[in-house]
Amino acid sequence: VSRFEGITMAPPDPILGVSEAFRADKDETKLNLGVGAYRTEELQPYVLQVVKKAENLMLERGENKEYLPIEGLAAFNKATADLLLGADNPLIKQEKVATVQGLSGTGSLRLAAALIERYFPGAKVLISAPTWGNHKNIFNDAKVPWSEYRYYDPKTVGLDFDGMIADVKAAPCGSFILLHGCAHNPTGIDPTPEQWEKIADVIQEKNHIPFFDVAYQGFASGSLDADASSVRLFAARGMELFVAQSYSKNLGLYAERIGAINVVCSSSDTAVRVKSQLKRLARPMYSNPPVHGARIVANVVGDPVLFSEWKSEMELMAGRIKDVRKRLYDNLSGNDKSGKDWSFILRQIGMFSFTGLNKAQSENMTNKWHVYMTKDGRISLAGLSLAKCEYLADAIVDSYH
Ligand code: PMP
Repeated sequence: VSRFEGITMAPPDPILGVSEAFRADKDETKLNLGVGAYRTEELQPYVLQVVKKAENLMLERGENKEYLPIEGLAAFNKATADLLLGADNPLIKQEKVATVQGLSGTGSLRLAAALIERYFPGAKVLISAPTWGNHKNIFNDAKVPWSEYRYYDPKTVGLDFDGMIADVKAAPCGSFILLHGCAHNPTGIDPTPEQWEKIADVIQEKNHIPFFDVAYQGFASGSLDADASSVRLFAARGMELFVAQSYSKNLGLYAERIGAINVVCSSSDTAVRVKSQLKRLARPMYSNPPVHGARIVANVVGDPVLFSEWKSEMELMAGRIKDVRKRLYDNLSGNDKSGKDWSFILRQIGMFSFTGLNKAQSENMTNKWHVYMTKDGRISLAGLSLAKCEYLADAIVDSYH
């Protein structure tokens, strides 16, 4: 008998488990709209041209594979903070930003969670209802208590702004408020600039600490600056805040695990101390981060030609998703004879659309139509082609009614 009898079977991951089920399906019409990964119109994975160019440069230079410092590659850390806050942001010149390279968005969130657990014992993190499924796992494993604030309003398939404000107000002073910098996952619904101002007002009033998760900078609107405007608005108020970044989507570096945790502090002295503790937390967890993705980002951002090529490719990806979104809306409006208003799809932003399909309806999508998606009704438009929109619209209309 095994010593491991006590280890029970873990349930499949609600997002990555969808891909496993997809691979097992032999039907030719099958469609994987579960995981958020960009595909071409031919539904093939896409490696950005600028990434290939940066990798060629790296090969030519014959760079070595020695360990990085615990905090990561210096050129990457500078580039990532510049991209986030704007290179001319006074906070950077004043050295008020502690930046540590992380294992993509997830690892950066996890490191921040460990810092919260160690230095803010008992403090609660408020997360949106709903949110990216892994947020709960991350804070659970870090032993950081969390609760939800209202976000999604099923009646309007829009933002429950009053509910959100009320819940942020009701949270104990000094809570962490987790915010999606842009392209909210899974709903695709972002606050307007005016709403962001009001959210910042309440967070300031309550002495909360904003904690931004920025997984889609440049990927939502096609503009790096526009997609960082929420974070910059808060930072410009002089607030201390956390920002986790990911290059999985905007540079297509999913498997390279490249991202960062930034802590904006009220003084350079604080930033030095915060950084030292982030490094102390990272050391026994994974010691130091991988170099390959960090060099790609540093090379792309550091070279004016590659940087502008990256922006064009990002616009191309964001543009393709917007085209698919529009086509899906047109097909839904055309195919659905019930008169249902589908325009909420056009108001959503980013790689996902929240269809409003419930669990049973989402299961019908998979079981009858071979459309793989998460059971919360989220579909990844980045995994959809123009050619498949009509089929998808038929499946959605059938599942709805
Ligand atoms: N946060 C959100 C909201 C996300 O959607 C994702 C990617 N699905 C991430 C963080 C992190 O992804 P990664 O660890 O691949 O950077």
